[in-house]
Amino acid sequence: MITGRTKILAVVGNPVKHSLSPLIHNYAYSLMGIDAVYIPIEAKEAYIDEVLSGLCFTLNLIGFNVTIPFKERVVRLMDLCSEEAQAIGAVNTVKRGEDKLIGYNTDWLGFRESLRINGIERVSFALLIGAGGASKAVAYALTKMGVERLFVTNRSPVNLQLFLERFSQFKPVAWEERDLLDVLPEVDLVINATSIGMDGVSFPPIRLEALRKDAVVYDLIYWETPLLKKAKELGLKAIDGLDMLILQALYAIEIWFGKMPEFSKVKEYILGWREKGGEA
Ligand code: NAP
Repeated sequence: MITGRTKILAVVGNPVKHSLSPLIHNYAYSLMGIDAVYIPIEAKEAYIDEVLSGLCFTLNLIGFNVTIPFKERVVRLMDLCSEEAQAIGAVNTVKRGEDKLIGYNTDWLGFRESLRINGIERVSFALLIGAGGASKAVAYALTKMGVERLFVTNRSPVNLQLFLERFSQFKPVAWEERDLLDVLPEVDLVINATSIGMDGVSFPPIRLEALRKDAVVYDLIYWETPLLKKAKELGLKAIDGLDMLILQALYAIEIWFGKMPEFSKVKEYILGWREKGGEA
């Protein structure tokens, strides 16, 4: 039941209809005994500034998440940004302080922690596929983890160049199967941070057979993509983006409320919801 004291949180994006975030957050608040509600807000791209200023008039608003396609655009609307959000150039979590909007990025924390939860403490050589907002959070996490050799590939050379201006320690590889084949035998972690595979059919231009048997394939998409299916068929360790999604939400909750619920309980709830036919 919503009362005059219920705290308000939201996710702003487009589309947000299929977002799992309301499910994750509302369950997490109930687990923690917090009187709060998390609502999806689909914003038209041209009106994002107005939507955010309107949202800030909401009584009891604690903060909100920002998702595709606004994470990079909202940086300039913040009064303050965390060091990490500035380095990544994207904000996914906003806290309303006294007369101030403070921007954070919890995607990189979610990615880093998801590796740990999946038993990956050390990475020496990583290949990142994609150069968008999520790729930058992953790149920041890999850099913080001290990964020795970092490669990146992207369909659009212009966006790849923008990525490299921020993360110059990455070496670019052309978006061609034969060029990528040269680096694959050395890689111990491949990360797909593009939307390739969302349709259940498309596949990035990499030949997984060229990877070492102990290599890990990570796809930021939250379900089994063709890339992950193939990785499993080849006996490679395959990780999807669900753990990262849940963890970035839990880190946002920590920013807003100073504590977070147990990851395993939230994951169990989401998997149960999926088993019952829930789709996102
Ligand atoms: P974004 O900023 O829009 O970037 C999209 C990336 O995908 C770009 O590198 C883009 O390449 C590439 N791309 C899109 N369609 C493509 C195609 N048909 N062929 C080749 N490349 C294509 O989006 P984002 O925020 O980085 O999100 C990327 C993915 O990560 C999405 O699937 C999103 O759901 C997922 N994600 C997951 C989490 C999580 O917590 N698990 C968090 C954030 C994002 P160009 O530069 O060539 O356009």
